[in-house]
Amino acid sequence: MSGTPAVVLVALRLYNTLTRRLEPLEPIRSGQVSMYTCGPTIWNYAHIGNFRTFLFEDLLRRWLEASGLSVFHIMNLTDVDDRIIREASARGTDIRSFTEPFARAFFEDRDWLRLRPAHVYPRATDFIDPMIALVQGLMDRGFAYQGEDGSVYFAIDRFPAYGRLSQLDRRELKAGASGRISADEYDKENAQDFVLWKAARPEDEAVGAAWDAPFGRGRPGWHLECSAMGLALLEREGLGPVLDIHAGGVDLIFPHHEDEIAQSCAYTGEAHFARMWVHGEFLNVRGSKMSKRFGNITTPRDLREDGVDPGALRLLLFQTHYRQKLDLTDDGLAAAREGCRRLGEFDSRLRRSETTPAGEENDFTPWGRNLEQKVAGALDDDLNAPEAVAAVFQASRDGNRLLDLGIFPAAADRDRWARLLGVLDILPAEAGAAAIVTPGGGSGVAAGALSPSPPADPAEAEAWAVAWAAARAAAKGSKDYKEADRIRALLAGAGWEIRDARDGRAEVRRVFP
Ligand SMILES: [Zn+2]
Repeated sequence: MSGTPAVVLVALRLYNTLTRRLEPLEPIRSGQVSMYTCGPTIWNYAHIGNFRTFLFEDLLRRWLEASGLSVFHIMNLTDVDDRIIREASARGTDIRSFTEPFARAFFEDRDWLRLRPAHVYPRATDFIDPMIALVQGLMDRGFAYQGEDGSVYFAIDRFPAYGRLSQLDRRELKAGASGRISADEYDKENAQDFVLWKAARPEDEAVGAAWDAPFGRGRPGWHLECSAMGLALLEREGLGPVLDIHAGGVDLIFPHHEDEIAQSCAYTGEAHFARMWVHGEFLNVRGSKMSKRFGNITTPRDLREDGVDPGALRLLLFQTHYRQKLDLTDDGLAAAREGCRRLGEFDSRLRRSETTPAGEENDFTPWGRNLEQKVAGALDDDLNAPEAVAAVFQASRDGNRLLDLGIFPAAADRDRWARLLGVLDILPAEAGAAAIVTPGGGSGVAAGALSPSPPADPAEAEAWAVAWAAARAAAKGSKDYKEADRIRALLAGAGWEIRDARDGRAEVRRVFP
């Protein structure tokens, strides 16, 4: 984005699972960060536990960008694996038709929870060629072999660093035919040669999950997907063979990420596939009240249908550090709803208050500086969202007191609040809506007639954003989700955010000036 300074001082420290230490983020290329986050397997609706991980990754992404870094964010969609093949087969359909509705549902849930869209969502089945090249490369280099079952396996004893991420005792490792695994998922007690390419079975053929390869017809193993797509996309973007950050849930450390490292590093010869491995803890839905009343409420769409505000849900999830386990409870949700409402009230009070002229200092001046320092300090400290949220609540209490005394903020103080709240994005859904776009009731301007960059004048910029939002609504109406996503990304790049309301309308609001 324009305006990114050439040199960015990054103060962020993250807990790197690879070293079990807090480490400063040192981007490989100054001012740029490449980030790969393991996405959903689109065989079902992603549950709230998956979204807790995506949400901490969203905060990481937003904080990197707010710190002045340009981020290239990849999130894959796994659209071929054991479960997908089984489910597609049971329904007598092919894997594409089976997974498509779940991909769409994932994007809807993502938008509802206000996750900033990744720059690219590669689907495994669109990257079969790079996967075949990766398997062939590993065979050529002696890291992979074909079993008598026709599948190709990674030989873990050929890769001495195997087990480093998950700190497996090397003696537990089982190599060769005695300890070979062809399932996509397996447990830590069974570290063994894992499958890269599964020989095609009739049931794979029946659902369109088999491709030709020099080493035999088959389909990729789950772990292979992320290595091949990550490396292919890094290369396409000219970002080299090593990621700055790779993130996911703790359940992915072993075997998934361990296997990703083995495949990628054995192939590239690099010491790392990612410099930093960042993992988010589990979310549990339990407690007697919760399990009785919310028996089925485990997906964002269930929560949405139950009237939960996405701002409140973000707030609730941010009130626990991403490396701590979190219990989702009825009481927690109710408290977050109330907290979110109070923040919304203060936000609108702050926005509607009189403005102190620029250059005139009053008690709002230290208020803004203090808020900025505390939030930045907290987020730079391994993304300490609970502390950042606490600072925001303190600022709203202090700010209310100042307004009660007839002391008013300057534009700069308001901007600080808006910018920091824009990172956490924990205000209620109804707050701050700049414009509502009704499907079919848009301006009728075709996307082709609109400029991709916003006019400088603020009023014109708003009309511009609304026109694009209308074009997006039209694209969604004609089921052109690719175009709708493109427009969302375009608006996001210009500082505008679209939120889809439940009734089909959309809200456009300015996130940063
Ligand atoms: Zn992955």
